[in-house]
Amino acid sequence: MGIRSRLAGLAALVVAVAALLCLRPAAPDGAAADAPAARPASATGIEWERPRFADRAAERRAMVRRDIQREGVRDPAVLAAMRQVPRHEFVPAGYRRRAYDDRPLPIGHGQTISQPYIVAYMTQQLGLKPGDKVLEIGTGSGYQAAVLSEITPHVFTIEIVRALGEAAKARFKRLGYKTIQCKIADGYYGWPDRGPFDAIIVTCAAGTIPPPLVKQLKPGGRMCIPVGPTGATQRLILVTKDAQGQVKSRSLIPVVFVPLTRKAR
Ligand code: SAH
Repeated sequence: MGIRSRLAGLAALVVAVAALLCLRPAAPDGAAADAPAARPASATGIEWERPRFADRAAERRAMVRRDIQREGVRDPAVLAAMRQVPRHEFVPAGYRRRAYDDRPLPIGHGQTISQPYIVAYMTQQLGLKPGDKVLEIGTGSGYQAAVLSEITPHVFTIEIVRALGEAAKARFKRLGYKTIQCKIADGYYGWPDRGPFDAIIVTCAAGTIPPPLVKQLKPGGRMCIPVGPTGATQRLILVTKDAQGQVKSRSLIPVVFVPLTRKAR
C-alpha cells in the first residue's frame, strides 16, 4: 500500500477515534490529538496500543518542523512517530530540559541517545509498514525502539549492557510501550528465533557488517547500520536484500555512533 493511502487511512482513523473519544480533532499538520490514555491504532487493520503523552507536545512538534522536516525527512509515519514519543522520558533527569534539542545526550555507561534527526532519518530508510517485523541492535534508552513501535507493533530490540537493558525494559513498562520485546545479549548474532526481519536497524557502529544480521533479513528487507572505525566518523550503510536474496549495500551519510562491542558486561 502506498504512503499516501496509508496516510489517508491513518488520518481517517485519527479523526474517527478523536470523535469517538470527544478529543479535539487532529491538528492540521497531521499530528494526532493528544490523548492521556493508550488507544488502539489500526491504520491497515492491525490493532495495537500506543501510549499518548500530552506533556511537551508543542516542543516535539517544533523539533519535527525545525530539525527533521526541514532537513529533508518526509515519511509521514516517521514524522508522526517523532511527534508522539516523549524523548524527555528517555533521558536522565539532568538532561530533560534539553531533550528536544537536536543533539545526542549521555544515558550513562558511556552510551548516548542518538540525536532526533538521525533517529528519524534511519527510521525513514527502513521504509516500514505497519505489520513489519523490525529488529534493533543497541536498545540504549529505548527511544529508537519506541519510535519504531509507533509504526509497527512487531519491534524486537537487543542491548548488551545489562543495566541499560533492564532500565529500558522498566521504562517501556512504565510508559506503556507494551509491544516492544527487549533482551540482553550480544546483538551481533541478531535474534534468530524471532527472525527473519523485514528491517534491521543497528544503532552502534560496527567495523564490518555482521553476517548473522544479513542472514536474518527477509528477501525484500532493509538494514540500516553505521559502519566504520570507533571514535571517528563512520558511514551509515543501507543494506538491501532483493526478492531473489541478492544483497546490495549503499553508503548514505557520515555519522558518529558509539561502538558495537562484543563482550556482555
Ligand atoms: N538506540 C539507542 C541509542 C543507542 S547507543 C537509543 O535510542 O537510546 C548504542 C547502544 O548499543 C548502547 O546502549 C550500547 O550498549 C549498545 N551496544 C553496543 N554493542 C552492542 C551489541 N553487541 N549488542 C547489543 N547492543 C550493543
